[in-house]
Amino acid sequence: MNNRAISMTLLYVLAGLTLFGTLPALAQAQKPVVVIDPAHGGEDTGCIGIDKVVEKDITLAMAKRLKQELNSSGTCRVVLTREGDETLSVEQRKKIITDFKPAAVVSIHANAGFGKTATGFELYYPGLGAKPSDRAKGKTEASEIKTLNDTVKLAHLIRKSLDALYPKQGRGLREADVVLLEGLKVPAVVVEIGFLTTPQDKKKVSDEKTRGSIARAMAQAVEAYFR
Ligand SMILES: [Zn+2]
Repeated sequence: MNNRAISMTLLYVLAGLTLFGTLPALAQAQKPVVVIDPAHGGEDTGCIGIDKVVEKDITLAMAKRLKQELNSSGTCRVVLTREGDETLSVEQRKKIITDFKPAAVVSIHANAGFGKTATGFELYYPGLGAKPSDRAKGKTEASEIKTLNDTVKLAHLIRKSLDALYPKQGRGLREADVVLLEGLKVPAVVVEIGFLTTPQDKKKVSDEKTRGSIARAMAQAVEAYFR
């Protein structure tokens, strides 16, 4: 075949692929995967707030909204650890996360307690101490440092985005042991989206409109992370 014939053949192949939806599917498969984990679920209600609002429902509603926001921008492929009111063990959640080989994980919780005035969002992430055995040995691989750097980057972006939405209401960003994220080797952040036991926070995370704004702020941070 001469060059022209080769180009024409390629063109037909490409047209065929596009026609049968293979290209969009390929493009979708190449996008980074983000796993959103709506914490708790099923028998595990999580904390209970004002008007008996339960954490597991709030985290699921927020996760679904975040998925919707991320899907509309098309930056990444989004997977939820649960789509309904299911009981999932830490091991099951870990398996879902590992199976999808995500580029990032966002686990969503809601807070309770600390009196009726406690308010605001809170972020934490696993540090290098994710594997206590290695910490004891003083062994840190370069890949672990990269994961930690990426984790901190993601956490800062989410914090900045939520700070812009609700100035001076952030409770900060800290390193903490997170059982779910132990040993996963993936940039991962836990977001406590507010206090279910504080009227203003409970209203914010229950109301469709404000929940949408919080989800959008988090989605913008995730998109910025991949840019
Ligand atoms: Zn929780």
